[in-house]
Amino acid sequence: MASIFTRIVNGEIPSYKVAEDDRFYAFLDINPLAEGHTLVIPKVEVDYIFDLDEETYQGLFAFARKVATAQKSVIPCKRIGIAVLGMEVPHTHIHLVPLHSEGDLDFRKEKISLTPERFKEIAGLLSNAFNKI
Ligand code: 5GP
Repeated sequence: MASIFTRIVNGEIPSYKVAEDDRFYAFLDINPLAEGHTLVIPKVEVDYIFDLDEETYQGLFAFARKVATAQKSVIPCKRIGIAVLGMEVPHTHIHLVPLHSEGDLDFRKEKISLTPERFKEIAGLLSNAFNKI
């Protein structure tokens, strides 16, 4: 069965899309640690990031860098933190989280809640910024 993220890429499940090309997709995490928390995935469905083929692995990080650059340009933060866990969804994804301090990347802390309108607004800001890179 297709992973939840493959279903998002295929448009079967809605997402707040940030960026896409033929091989990669970026969208807002539905349970964010911070405003602008984004997931970057390869469209190919591989569970463990270090099992990706070399080209996809390199491409994923290049795509993530563009997303992080877009985040940094529109979300007030000190820098963009990066994390790979994969404890919940068995489809490779990189978390890109705007940070003010070290504790902002603690996945045990309570997530923030945002209205659909705010998610949409943030995705729009990020998407516009990404398209200018
Ligand atoms: P991990 O696998 O990295 O431990 O956690 C999976 C991440 O994916 C979590 O941060 C969770 O909020 C996010 N997530 C899980 N299901 C969905 C979904 O259907 N849509 C979106 N946008 N994010 C999801």
